[in-house]
Amino acid sequence: MTYTPPLREELRGLEPYGAPQLDVPVQLNVNENPYGPSPACVADIAEAVASAAGSLNRYPDREFTELRTALAAYLSRDTEPTRGFAITPDQVWAANGSNEVMLQLLQAFGGPGRTAVSFAPTYSMYPEYARDSMTAWVAGRRETDFGLDLDHARELVEKERPSVVLLPSPNNPTGTALPPEAVTALCEAVGDDGVVVVDEAYGEFRRAGTPSALELLPRHRNLVVSRTMSKAFALAGARLGYLAAAPEICDAIRVVRLPYHLSAVTQAVALAALRHAPELLGRVDELRVERDATVAWLRERGHQVADSDANFVLFGTFPDRHAVWQGLLDQGVLIREVGPDGWLRVSIGTAGEMAAFRQALTAVLAQEA
Ligand code: PMP
Repeated sequence: MTYTPPLREELRGLEPYGAPQLDVPVQLNVNENPYGPSPACVADIAEAVASAAGSLNRYPDREFTELRTALAAYLSRDTEPTRGFAITPDQVWAANGSNEVMLQLLQAFGGPGRTAVSFAPTYSMYPEYARDSMTAWVAGRRETDFGLDLDHARELVEKERPSVVLLPSPNNPTGTALPPEAVTALCEAVGDDGVVVVDEAYGEFRRAGTPSALELLPRHRNLVVSRTMSKAFALAGARLGYLAAAPEICDAIRVVRLPYHLSAVTQAVALAALRHAPELLGRVDELRVERDATVAWLRERGHQVADSDANFVLFGTFPDRHAVWQGLLDQGVLIREVGPDGWLRVSIGTAGEMAAFRQALTAVLAQEA
């Protein structure tokens, strides 16, 4: 007899979230950075881990003070030159990936009887954080160009009175960045009844002229800006996400975090990587150029393409997108079937990987014609 464990009723029959992890030559499906760390950076990380290993019999610094200080200094680069204020360590919180940061936000500010709101199409993990924290989930809509309709957004907030609003900027899967006016409008609409989380997982890839929501922190005490080292920082394997917000918000999250949630090894790796920030972030400009070239190439071929401030591009539309996805995979190019019907998303890889993508797509569409 097969065993059916006593899973929560609403979880029965559900599949765990995640794109297929397939071993193919060109992997452009989960918005990773295609460039690994240099040998010098690897050596530094290895040394930091070796040093941490000597005291693994002890629990790590529960407050990860050194890491918070380093992350605050890193974030201040986005606020000091333009706005003249720094982010302080007590305004920073971190966890194992920004997924965990946001789950903790939902655990602290969501919960039974409370509602989380976002605007679709949006990051597919958000409803899962809501489900897992027993928070009601309401998705509003976006415009046809995937921007926010502010009147609609304000109306939805008035109606639902959410305790958490999740706003990815740039948005996944569309790549759309939000203007500061939109963030301000939502922070004002939500007021002290809730927090507005601007998820800047892809923030470093935004185009010139799009400011980070970090600049708005002094104006809105209910604003949270979430970041990750997984994308621009080329450190997805290390699992380090973080946020900047009012110290009171960081303090509130401490109530729900598990004790010692950031291992000594994770802290050591993140600190070593932050010392190599210029190198790890050095390829961001290159990836931006490759992204813009990909957008232009797809448009020249008559595809619809969403404007992108991220390291991926959403394009379409295809009557049978699965056939196109499968055709690319058959040629060794893995992209993602995600977003509204008929659209596909490709992450930006190296110049060689993008050439392989262009060649494979041309071949697949020629076959279909
Ligand atoms: N936010 C968005 C919008 C994302 O696309 C992702 C990763 N795909 C994350 C958060 C989570 O990333 P991580 O947990 O690696 O920081």
